Amino acid sequence: MSTKSFKSFINLDANATYGLLPELYENLKALFPNLLNPNSVHQGGQAARAIIEKAREEIAALIGTAPGDRIIFTSGATESNNLALYAPFLWADEATRSRGAPWSLLGTALEHPSVLGPAQALRQKGVELRLLGPRETRSLRDFVEACSEDTRLVSLMYANNESGEIFDVPSIAKAIKEKFPNTIFHTDAVQALGKFPLSFRNTNADLMSLSAHKIGGLMGAGALIVREGINLEPLLRGGPQEERLRAGTENLLGIASFGLAAKHVRENLAARIASMRKGRDFLLHEIKRVFSDVSTTSNLERVLPNTLSIQIPGVRADDLVVAADTQGVLISYGAACSSGKQDPSHVFLAMGYSEEEAKEIVRISLKAEYEAGELEHAASVLISCIQRMRK
Ligand code: PLP
Repeated sequence: MSTKSFKSFINLDANATYGLLPELYENLKALFPNLLNPNSVHQGGQAARAIIEKAREEIAALIGTAPGDRIIFTSGATESNNLALYAPFLWADEATRSRGAPWSLLGTALEHPSVLGPAQALRQKGVELRLLGPRETRSLRDFVEACSEDTRLVSLMYANNESGEIFDVPSIAKAIKEKFPNTIFHTDAVQALGKFPLSFRNTNADLMSLSAHKIGGLMGAGALIVREGINLEPLLRGGPQEERLRAGTENLLGIASFGLAAKHVRENLAARIASMRKGRDFLLHEIKRVFSDVSTTSNLERVLPNTLSIQIPGVRADDLVVAADTQGVLISYGAACSSGKQDPSHVFLAMGYSEEEAKEIVRISLKAEYEAGELEHAASVLISCIQRMRK
């Protein structure tokens, strides 16, 4: 099999995938001889099992779980989100429901498609679904008022993948759990991890979705963090893995990369955040120096330190993405999973942008580490592309 060699590029699309941390290469390679089935009883299986448990410890250390909380490995945050949304409703059959089980789901219109998809599917199965807009999502009072005794599950993302906006999950979850202790609170914290001092217990959530490839690990591994006392039903059955919550042989290499990336992030978090912010602010400064009409889609004080979501009047974002790409600078228009289609992002439409305006919004999302001169080069590429497109 021949492998195509890729030309070098500057990844300013880290919210889509961070890219494997070079610090992990050697450690992952050293695991190759031990990639056996972690469920086998022999010594090969035990060595593989130890790799998984080590990764679990590293993730626990990064997010500060309490004893009794569970870290359930999944194939990624899409699966974690599906598990979190479906599980609270799965066990409750019609009979249970007719006995008056709470049967509504409260979310926001800004969620990732891997939350909105199962939410819409649940609606088709009779679950009452309410999706809040950005104004209500930002207001503690409005959010809590939208919840009721009938709300079985609340799902609120910690930070948006497109705008980078951070929501006040700790306060909203606390207020909802105080008023409605039986309501389960889920947060999709995929984008916050590694860019924010995230602590599971401080989020006050019951369930939290995470993904390895957003923090420098491999694709295909994620986790659902489950607070002590929360009982879930699995989506995938047929094996005892992950405390019977997720059947199937574990993605050993992916999980190992998740653990190693978690360790690296924990040991360098403050420096990484500072570096992302410095790079992000530099790019914004350079772009705004030339184009004063460029605006950020959210107030940067409430935005992830690595994310720059900007509207560039008169410039089609999808054209800019292609133009920058031809010069080796990777940025994005909408989320990666929706790239290829030209529809404007549901996030910016929900935020009140018109279709035409939403098509002018690009996302630049940074890693913590770039080679000297890379960001200066990226800034000049973006500026020259915008200048050309405005002519
Ligand atoms: N949730 C958010 C906020 C995301 O940004 C993503 C990926 O783009 C996901 C969930 C899905 O993660 P995964 O790629 O691990 O399935």
